[in-house]
Parts: sequence; C-alpha cells; structure tokens
Amino acid sequence: MLLIECPWCGQRDESEFSPGGEADIARPLQPDQLDDAAWADYLFMRKNTKGWHRELWNHSQGCRQWFGVERHTVTYAIRRSYQLQEDTSPTLTEDEA
Ligand SMILES: [Zn+2]
Repeated sequence: MLLIECPWCGQRDESEFSPGGEADIARPLQPDQLDDAAWADYLFMRKNTKGWHRELWNHSQGCRQWFGVERHTVTYAIRRSYQLQEDTSPTLTEDEA
C-alpha cells in the first residue's frame, strides 16, 4: 500500500486516491489538423517508463484535487508531490526516466 502526499491534505493512504495516468501530455493545439495516426498517438500511446516518471493522481476520497507525483515505477518510491499549476520544474532527464 502506498502512502501518497496530497499537496493540500498531507500524507494519506493510497485507497483515497484515483490514478490519472502519465503526466505532461499536452493536448494538441489544433486537433482537427491531426491525421488519425497522430490523434491515436495522443490518445493512447504512453511511455511505460522503467524508473522515475511523473503521473497524475486525484484525491477522490478527500479534497478531489488533481496533482502530480514523481514515482519510481520499479520501487514505488515517491519523491515528490506537486500542485499542477505551480510546477515549474523541467521534464525528467533521460537518465532519470
Ligand atoms: Zn487532498
């Protein structure tokens, strides 16, 4: 069982949260300009990282806020939780991913 740090409520049990998948996926600015392959890539293709990656979580049984978490996909260690609107850190580097 994970203990996840909600930026608003503090550390809570994993059962209070709902996962939202990979973070940092930008919606295309002009989706009507994309062909089917590019649209499918945006909708379905994810990195499946082995190592540190960023993901979205929702505190669905608490404050209902969305936020980001940096979690290691092998060890499940969490090194940071952050509010999405306040995150200004750079994207993870290749050796961190
Ligand atoms: Zn919360």
